[in-house]
Amino acid sequence: MAPACDPPSRRRGSGWLALARWLWLLLLLGTWGGPAHALVAGRTPGAVEVAVPVGEPLWLRPYARTLRETQAMASTLGPALLTQDLPWEPVTSLEPVFAFGFDRSAHWVHVALRHDGPEPARLVLEAAEPLIDDLRLWVVDRASGALVAHAQLGDRVAEAVRPLDYRHPALPFVLLPGHTVDVLVRVHAVDGEHDPLPLRLWNASDFFDHALWDNWIYGAYYGALSALLLYNLLVFAGTRERTFGLYTLFLASFLLWNLTYRGYALQYLWPGAVTWNQIALVSFSALIYAGMAAFSWSLLEVPRRAPWLFRLQAVLALAALAHAVWIVADPTAATFATLDLVGLAMFVVLLLAAARIAWRGERVAWIYLGAHGALFAGAGVYYATKLELITPGPLSLHALNLGSAAEFVLLGFALAYRINRLKAERDHAQAELVRTLQDAAQRLEREVAARTEALRQANHRLEELATRDALTGLLNRHQLHERLVEELARAQRSGQPLAVLMLDLDHFKALNDRGGHPYGDHVLRQVGALLAPPLLRATDRAFRVGGEEFLVLAPGTDAAGLQRLAERIRGAVSQQAWPHPDAATGWVSISVGGTLSQPQDTPESIFERADRALYEAKHQGRNRCAYA
Ligand code: GH3
Ligand code: MG
Ligand code: MG
Repeated sequence: MAPACDPPSRRRGSGWLALARWLWLLLLLGTWGGPAHALVAGRTPGAVEVAVPVGEPLWLRPYARTLRETQAMASTLGPALLTQDLPWEPVTSLEPVFAFGFDRSAHWVHVALRHDGPEPARLVLEAAEPLIDDLRLWVVDRASGALVAHAQLGDRVAEAVRPLDYRHPALPFVLLPGHTVDVLVRVHAVDGEHDPLPLRLWNASDFFDHALWDNWIYGAYYGALSALLLYNLLVFAGTRERTFGLYTLFLASFLLWNLTYRGYALQYLWPGAVTWNQIALVSFSALIYAGMAAFSWSLLEVPRRAPWLFRLQAVLALAALAHAVWIVADPTAATFATLDLVGLAMFVVLLLAAARIAWRGERVAWIYLGAHGALFAGAGVYYATKLELITPGPLSLHALNLGSAAEFVLLGFALAYRINRLKAERDHAQAELVRTLQDAAQRLEREVAARTEALRQANHRLEELATRDALTGLLNRHQLHERLVEELARAQRSGQPLAVLMLDLDHFKALNDRGGHPYGDHVLRQVGALLAPPLLRATDRAFRVGGEEFLVLAPGTDAAGLQRLAERIRGAVSQQAWPHPDAATGWVSISVGGTLSQPQDTPESIFERADRALYEAKHQGRNRCAYA
């Protein structure tokens, strides 16, 4: 009985602490069961006798009568109504919950309860709906007319004081044996939209057990949502991936909306701030729709894949957000009829878009549909339980919460799946890029190598052109000076003289004139070919120094060697027997001027001397050798 006798003290603004306290109580003092009370509940004393079953509440509607409030009653609002003759209407069906629909007027409910047990009954009258705007409860002892209990509650009543620190309006009272009490309830909807009124009577200890369990379930639910929210927020902070940010926004608006919708926000987060509570309820609701749309667009790439449905969704999302402006402008506005309609339409269009995208083989969209499927399944079980198609149990009663939690986890999974796939695509693209770059680098290398080789060959050719005579392939005149310097230095070092031979074909002008220029060229080429081993030594060098003039450098040659070499060259040319129409012999001949280097020689001096010797040979009649 402990919890029933000792209702938790009212502490505001420490929601999670209070939850922990409830949990602690459940663990330590868990009272499973309590005394059963024999109660009589009815419209008139002694009408129906009902034993309140332990563990289950008694739904009061079947025993009640109702009254629509009129202006005329204004002076007697309260227990005094019971003394008047008013048009009370009996309840005719067994529906457990009152539903007054859309009505600007307040409604009254009256139930008479009698207690026949031996002990005082500790009871709790609960309206199991946190969003009732304005709710007043009276419990009056019939015999004495004394007020047993009274409370003014409701989420639109700023001065409301909760007799029990619970998210639903709840009023504890004690019913003495043999007494009859009149329970009087006044309910009013500020915007005319009456929430259902699930009025029920609990054995107090059962009520506290129930409240503990209820708070425990919601604590776990909000804990899971908060963990998911925090996780996604951190991932967003780390990755700056927009979809995570939108998912975080969606989760946050859902969490805040749910805390408001279930009554926890007004109980713990902003107690007494009733206007803001209404604004929060509508704005967070609108934000859920907009947040869900934005998240879905980003996750499924709806704008690209289903542009028309996206445009429709965008209009609906804006329409939903407009309700937030509307409720701020007028906190008493009846916004929910249109907001729910807009939300439902958007949900349908989102599902259509997801189905369309899934149909084209997008796996993320399948997971997305599965996530909403989990919510639908939860909602299905929940409403089936409400309609008593399923036996109520802790799981089936909270199936909606379980479904929505599963939905969020699955959406988170879809998000992770998509990010993973994006990452894989990026990795693939990166690998592709690296491969392309490598290919390009290799191609470039090959090209550079080819170009380098071509350049080398071109250089070689240029060098050839610069150093060699094109017709005969012998070294050209430019090379002569350099080589002469070299060879003279070498001769000086070794002490062995350098032989220089100047050669000039005889009557070559005439040969050209008579035999033709091509024939002249031919002879020149042949002479060039002759001036090589075996006629010359490997260390000898032959140059073409003019039209039909050649020069040979033969290092390490003495006077005898010089003469032998000169004769050999001259002899070799005449032996070829190239026809020469103007020559005395009938063949092409050559004259040779030879000289040996002397220690003081310069290239010019030795060249000069060889040229003079050649002139001498020509002068002596050609086809001969002369020396200087
Ligand atoms: P000499 O016996 O006095 O040397 O008389 P020559 O006609 O050989 O002397 P000259 O220097 O007057 O003539 C040289 C000729 O060589 C002139 C030119 O027609 C010819 N000649 C010079 N270079 C080339 C060449 O590259 N190809 C050909 N076919 N002829 C050339
Ligand atoms: Mg000449
Ligand atoms: Mg000549």
